Amino acid sequence: MNKGLLFVLSGPSGVGKGTVCAALRKRLPDLIYSVSATTRSPREGEQDGVNYFFKSREQFQEMIERDALLEYAQYVGNYYGTPRDFVEKTLSEGKDIILEIEVQGALKVKEKFPEGVFIFLMPPSLNELKTRITGRGTESQTVIDHRLSMAQEEINLLYHYDYAVVNDQIELACDRISAIITAEHCKRERFLHELLPDIDAVAAADNV
Ligand code: 5GP
Repeated sequence: MNKGLLFVLSGPSGVGKGTVCAALRKRLPDLIYSVSATTRSPREGEQDGVNYFFKSREQFQEMIERDALLEYAQYVGNYYGTPRDFVEKTLSEGKDIILEIEVQGALKVKEKFPEGVFIFLMPPSLNELKTRITGRGTESQTVIDHRLSMAQEEINLLYHYDYAVVNDQIELACDRISAIITAEHCKRERFLHELLPDIDAVAAADNV
């Protein structure tokens, strides 16, 4: 059976990855979503096993030691990681899977799955991101400056990705990601890998 495709949706903090991914999943019910493990507490309405697998720090540490995570990263004092078995099982069943993760984790996935498709969600402009970061009005100038420089650094990671998608409007961003998924399935290389053995077999049978 042909393997499914691995899609990684990432990008700077505050760009709207979670919202875009949720809208995309509604649109593409066959696209399997990888539920991450995290040590952060559930927010209101979040369900264990649906939004995240909520773990204690000890449980998370144990998953790291068992090599049960494809990647993990620390974000704002908590651990987040992608359970490995589910990703591998889904791909081997020929189904596509999407990971919605922050940038450090995405780079680690790329080391292990260079054949994955890496999509970077962009803010409409750096100014827009600046407005969002400063617009909260609650942080000191030092915190704002730190966030801005972090956002700038994260945007510089764009070079590691296959695609850049601007999140100007959620539905438009979803249109672009759907187009990428379709285009990836139409790649010549995939047909060469997938069909050539069959074509060779038919040719061999014809020659008998
Ligand atoms: P939140 O706490 O708002 O749900 O997520 C915080 C950040 O963690 C988001 O940028 C989200 O994309 C990222 N994240 C969620 N799951 C994972 C994961 O499994 N691995 C990594 N590296 N980041 C994740």
